[in-house]
Amino acid sequence: MADQLVRATAAEGGIRIVGVITTRLTEEARQRHQLSYVATAALGRTMSAGLLLVSSMKRAESRVNLRVRGNGPLEGILVDAGLDGTVRGYVGNPKVELPPNDRGKLDVGGAVGSQGFLYVVRDVGYGYPYSSTVELVSGEIGDDITHYLVSSEQTPSALIVGVFVGASGVSAAGGLLVQVLPKAARDEALVEKLESRISALSGFTPLLQAGKSLPQIFEDLVGDMGLEIFPETQMVRFHCGCSFDRVLGALKILGKDELIDIIDKEGEAEAICEFCGQVYKANQSELETLIQELQLEQAER
Ligand code: ZN
Repeated sequence: MADQLVRATAAEGGIRIVGVITTRLTEEARQRHQLSYVATAALGRTMSAGLLLVSSMKRAESRVNLRVRGNGPLEGILVDAGLDGTVRGYVGNPKVELPPNDRGKLDVGGAVGSQGFLYVVRDVGYGYPYSSTVELVSGEIGDDITHYLVSSEQTPSALIVGVFVGASGVSAAGGLLVQVLPKAARDEALVEKLESRISALSGFTPLLQAGKSLPQIFEDLVGDMGLEIFPETQMVRFHCGCSFDRVLGALKILGKDELIDIIDKEGEAEAICEFCGQVYKANQSELETLIQELQLEQAER
């Protein structure tokens, strides 16, 4: 199934549901960053969470940045997700591999670490971004972001994210966000029913592996609670806005002397985008052009 995001409501708008399939984009991230199994799961879960969080924002330019800083060997995760359906991200140490946890699953919590912080930045594209920090609960990502939604945004929420990765790559990845808005929160029977159904789910990837589509998953969960699925399916993808021009801009900031030094010592400059792993090379004549530009700018002052 293609990577996609679907939104729905139930209980006359009192319940908000978003589902996302990120199988392909998680596989793309795995290949770009040459991620280990557990690093693939950790980054994939966080990318799904980023897309789910940004889906409730209104302005087209909105983005959510998630930074996970735990005390585990993964050395942190950074994800940048946009309301336009693009997402990118990386981990500090892509090679970490750990034995399975006591439930026989990839030990994401062990790799991330259960002590540390989750930083969430919501940026609507102008003015001051809204940022918030919570302590990690388990490092398993889903629990940590649920804790953020409940404690920091004060919305009763359940966030389930999962990645299934094997020897041939990522075969299922994605997540589900269910939120209870104030008007439904007063209906205790409804909330109870919803909670028991969510806790009966054994995860997100088993549903995908059973061949369920997002609308079918919603139907199983809240089909009898006045489910209304938004007609448009949004495509989501791994995308990084980096470019050779931006790399040249960053090199230029180093200044004339530093650039001359690079030409003398290396002959060329190499830069790797952390977010997507793209390698950029500026050769001697491109570096010399930058130096000329700097000299012209200096003369104009
Ligand atoms: Zn990039």
